[in-house]
Amino acid sequence: MEYHLIADYHTHTRYSHGKGTIEQNVIAARKKGLKRIAITDHGFRHVGIGMRIEDIDRMRREIDVLRKKYDDIEILFGIEANLTSMEGDIDIPEEYIGAFDLILMGFHKAVVPRSLKDGWKLFFKNAMCSLVPICDAEKLRHDNTMAIIRAMERYPIHTITHPGAKINIDTRLLAKHAVKHNVFLEINSSHGFMTEEYVKVAMEEGAKFVINSDAHTPENVGNMAKGIMIAQKAGVSPARILNSQDFLW
Ligand SMILES: [Zn+2]
Ligand SMILES: [Zn+2]
Repeated sequence: MEYHLIADYHTHTRYSHGKGTIEQNVIAARKKGLKRIAITDHGFRHVGIGMRIEDIDRMRREIDVLRKKYDDIEILFGIEANLTSMEGDIDIPEEYIGAFDLILMGFHKAVVPRSLKDGWKLFFKNAMCSLVPICDAEKLRHDNTMAIIRAMERYPIHTITHPGAKINIDTRLLAKHAVKHNVFLEINSSHGFMTEEYVKVAMEEGAKFVINSDAHTPENVGNMAKGIMIAQKAGVSPARILNSQDFLW
């Protein structure tokens, strides 16, 4: 299976904990021959590294200037939002949802939860139960999955980043709902998540995928070799991979 990927929909810059500027990511993407790049820094409640609400306007203006400067590539202003509660809250205040061209959402640790109770379940309990087998692991896995599904139901989420990384989830159930809500599941070239095995499960449910670099340096923008390898091994057809297509949704 050959994939011709024309876009990278998940890259970080200095606005969160990436190393480069937006322009450096854009230049790197052009060098790799990409036609589209998304700048998707970490959500606001990511401790120590999340982007700042005050930066939204600045980033948007920067992107507007770069769009004029480089007219051979489409630049999207996105965000990699965080799950902050068991009810599917994410860390973008309602009034800023429309500020982004695309919203990615993933589970990360070191995020300020919506409430203490959410912090307990989402972060502490998950961490504890992965260490000592005293929990109802099946129930926790189901609750984790439902939290992500609720987020898809509540917000215009484009992609779930690295499903299954850092948190135990039911891939089949997630994939079912992702199909229903027209949400892409990411095959992440940095983490190696989803794995081949999970991709196969999601594929059985009819899921659509996106292969991203999750670059934190300009050099890594467009580096999707690992994701491509996973997709190939799982036998995903190019028609199911967003960035081998010339459309965004
Ligand atoms: Zn991530
Ligand atoms: Zn990321």
